Amino acid sequence: MDGTARTEGRGDLHLHSVRSDGTEPPEQVIAAAHRHGLRTVALTDHDTTAGWAEAADAAVSLGMTLIPGMELSAKHEWRSVHLLAYLFDPDDPALRAETDRIRDARMGRAERIVAAIGRDYDFTWDDVVAQTSVGATVGRPHIADALVARGLAADRSAAFDGILHPREPYYVPHYAPDPLTAVRLVVAAGGVPIIAHPTPAGRDRMLPVPVLEELIAAGLAGFEIDHRENTESGKRILRDIAARHDLIVTGSSDYHGRGKPNLPGENTTSPEMVARIVDRGTGSAPVRS
Ligand code: AMP
Ligand code: FE
Ligand code: FE
Ligand code: ZN
Repeated sequence: MDGTARTEGRGDLHLHSVRSDGTEPPEQVIAAAHRHGLRTVALTDHDTTAGWAEAADAAVSLGMTLIPGMELSAKHEWRSVHLLAYLFDPDDPALRAETDRIRDARMGRAERIVAAIGRDYDFTWDDVVAQTSVGATVGRPHIADALVARGLAADRSAAFDGILHPREPYYVPHYAPDPLTAVRLVVAAGGVPIIAHPTPAGRDRMLPVPVLEELIAAGLAGFEIDHRENTESGKRILRDIAARHDLIVTGSSDYHGRGKPNLPGENTTSPEMVARIVDRGTGSAPVRS
């Protein structure tokens, strides 16, 4: 496969590092993307900008362009909604207060999940700490890795399909803002909000169209359409909405290192769409060598 030719000029705008639930430090994530032929990337750890500086250094040293990003947790009714945010001001007080609140809530929630599992299995918080980088946004993926280390699951996916599944008695949700609040916060911080994997199968399935229209009116910039978790029927509906509202559409891998099978560049964003994101973001600047 000639990955370089395939990805020439295109961007992979959704990558995770150990600052959240990826398995590699930011510089390794950027290097992995470079090996897969990418020259424009975004680091989008969950609810944190902690990896930006390391990712920027790596991108500069490899001659790449880094678009600073984040994947902000939100929630609509029972659905978990992930909002990709690009080029916002990382020091914006309101957005920072919200991400601090989400990360705090995630920590308490993870402890409750682990305590519940610990009533049925030989499993403790120390097992999770051993799988989590200092300061990382804690999520079920870290608990999954700890379950794997304990021999209680074969891999992350098996843990998510088993002990960590919401149907199991151990599941605890975490606080997250509603999507409208999330979009407004990102816009107010000068950022470009794009809904990540907006049309998955199952529990988190696509937001109702009237809700999407409300988000668009509030400044939602687009949808991440080319993502392995989106259904084909959902992609068609969202492409149609995007065309009607002249929205940005992106594609990305959602690389998590060894945490998921997703590989850098498996889905990409066109240079035209990357340029639209760069034009629209006013809170921070792309990092170029
Ligand atoms: P949480 O936000 O803590 O509830 O955990 C959800 C996160 O787990 C998402 O951001 C995904 O990256 C990850 N995730 C969800 N399902 C799986 C899976 N089957 N295998 C690996 N990671 C997953
Ligand atoms: Fe994740
Ligand atoms: Fe996500
Ligand atoms: Zn993601």
